[in-house]
Amino acid sequence: MRRLVYMLGVLFIASCSTDTDVLTDELLDNEVTNDETASDGQNNAPRIEATAFQIPEHSLGGTTIGTVTASDADEDRLTFTIDSNYDLIIDENTGELSVGENLQLDFETNDEISFTVSVFDGSTIVDWDATLTITDINEYQILSQAQKDLVEYYTFLTLRKSASSPRTTNLKWGESIKLYLDGAITPAYREMVTTTLAEINDYFTVGDFTISLTNNQSDANATLYLGDVSEIETLWPDIFDIANGSNNQGYASTSFSNNVIDDARIWLSIDSEILFKHELGHGLGLGHSNRCGSSEPVGSFMCSTVSPNHNILPSEVEVLRYLYHEDMPSGLNEQEIEDYLSNFILLDM
Ligand SMILES: [Zn+2]
Repeated sequence: MRRLVYMLGVLFIASCSTDTDVLTDELLDNEVTNDETASDGQNNAPRIEATAFQIPEHSLGGTTIGTVTASDADEDRLTFTIDSNYDLIIDENTGELSVGENLQLDFETNDEISFTVSVFDGSTIVDWDATLTITDINEYQILSQAQKDLVEYYTFLTLRKSASSPRTTNLKWGESIKLYLDGAITPAYREMVTTTLAEINDYFTVGDFTISLTNNQSDANATLYLGDVSEIETLWPDIFDIANGSNNQGYASTSFSNNVIDDARIWLSIDSEILFKHELGHGLGLGHSNRCGSSEPVGSFMCSTVSPNHNILPSEVEVLRYLYHEDMPSGLNEQEIEDYLSNFILLDM
C-alpha cells in the first residue's frame, strides 16, 4: 500500500512538480526539492547493495535481521519499503530489517523467505529481490526449565519409562476412539464415562481426534468391560491370565500396526472414575507416572496405584494435548520426541 502511494507520488511530481502546496507528506516535499536540484541533469537511480541475510529460526518479533544499504550518486534522501508475503519490517529511513510480530520462523517448515526491498530517491524506485535464509537451531536448548520439564515428563509417560522394558518409540491412535461399554454397565456408570470423556476430549484442541461412545459393538475400536475378572476368561484370555490372581483392579491392552494404535481393550473390576481415567490413559498410549510421592500436592492419575484423590495433572493435560495434536506423528523415538515437542512448544501450537 505504501509503495502504491509513492508510485502515485512520482506520477504526481512528473505532472506538476512545482505545486508544493498540495504535497502534504514530508517525503514528497523532499522529492520536489531534489527534483529541483537535479533539474540541470539526469537523476541517478539509487543502488542497493546486495546482501545475504540470515536469521535463526524462532527469533522473536522485533529481532533485527540486518540492514539493507543503498547509495545514491546525487546524495538524495533514500526511503526504503518492503514487499513480502511474510511479516518482515523495514525501517523506511535506515533500511534496518526486522522480524514482524506475526512472523513465526520455523526452519522445519520453511527455511527461506523471499522479499523485495524498494528504495526511492524521490524520483526513481529501484527494486531488489532478496532472500532471508532461516537457520536451524536446537529448540530444546532454548526452552525454559518448565518447558524442558514438560518434554522430559512427556517422554517419560509416552515411552513408558516406568516399565521394566520401556518403549523405544511412542504410540498414539491414528483415528478417533469409538468405545463400546460391556459388562455390568449401569446408567450411572455410563453417565460417569460420558462426563469424563467430555472432560478429556476438551484436551484435544488441535485436530479431529476424539473419544466417543458407541452402542454398536461392530463399530467400536475400543471396548471397556466392567465386571469380575472371571467374566473375561473366555472373552479376553490373555488379559485374564495377567489379571487373575493379581492385585490388579483394571487392565488395558492396546494393539497397533504401522506405529499407530488401532485397538484397545480395557477391563475394570470396580466402578471407579479414577480407575477408568487411569486405564483410558494406558489406552491412549501413556505409561505409569513418577509423580506419585507424598511430596506431590496431587498424585497423577497414571500412578500405578491410584486413589480417588488422584487426578489428571495440568502437565498431563499438556501431554495429552501435544500427543494428540494433529501434526504430532506417532512412533517417535526419544530424540525425535525432544525435537518435535520442543518445536511445538516454541511455536505455541
Ligand atoms: Zn496402570
